[in-house]
Amino acid sequence: MRGEDRILELQELDSALDRLEARRRQLEEGEELAAARAVMEDAESRLGEIRLALDAVQVEQRRLEHEVDTLDQKAAADEKRLYDGSIANTKELEALQHEIANIRERKSRTEDELLDRMERREELEARAVQAEEEVAGTRARLESVGGDAARELDEVVATLAETRSARDALAPELAEELLELYEDLRGQKKGVGAAAIVDGVCQACHEKLSALELDHLKHTDGVKRCEYCRRIVVFA
Ligand SMILES: [Zn+2]
Repeated sequence: MRGEDRILELQELDSALDRLEARRRQLEEGEELAAARAVMEDAESRLGEIRLALDAVQVEQRRLEHEVDTLDQKAAADEKRLYDGSIANTKELEALQHEIANIRERKSRTEDELLDRMERREELEARAVQAEEEVAGTRARLESVGGDAARELDEVVATLAETRSARDALAPELAEELLELYEDLRGQKKGVGAAAIVDGVCQACHEKLSALELDHLKHTDGVKRCEYCRRIVVFA
């Protein structure tokens, strides 16, 4: 039948068109871009949380520093009173000494807390640096995915147009009956209507044809079909 020897060429173009169309849909839906954006937004939100925690710990640190200063001043004032002779009463002096000891103890506890906050702050600052790097990395990745996707879409659209015109030029070379059968099979069999036979094996269903069937196919005048998948076959 006319054009039977070119049916595989047509199949190749149609398979390429199917692949390109699928890729174009993927790119237009922008799944990869959306995924890259989600990763970046995650990184940004982690950084945001660290910054909030850092702000809170800084406020706490300032409060504790202020408290240590206040306690220091209070202890100094009390000590001054203790030694300037303004208090003669023993009980009052004892009470004052007791208060000074209390203040010192509170100051020491507050300093411990302050140290704890400073350590926490250092830890958060280190994590913030890491998180900033992560955000920068994911942002760069998003931009590159966006650029790549746009470039690839252009290429895919151009290749689609070329492939389509090659197909349009080839199709009239094939007998109409052959084309109809091929299209029918393509519709039924996942886009593959024609396949090569290599070493007696159908390249679409991968079944090995019997020697008898192969001999029969070689000598048939009609369209050759695989005895298993019924696709059009061509000897490679
Ligand atoms: Zn087959």
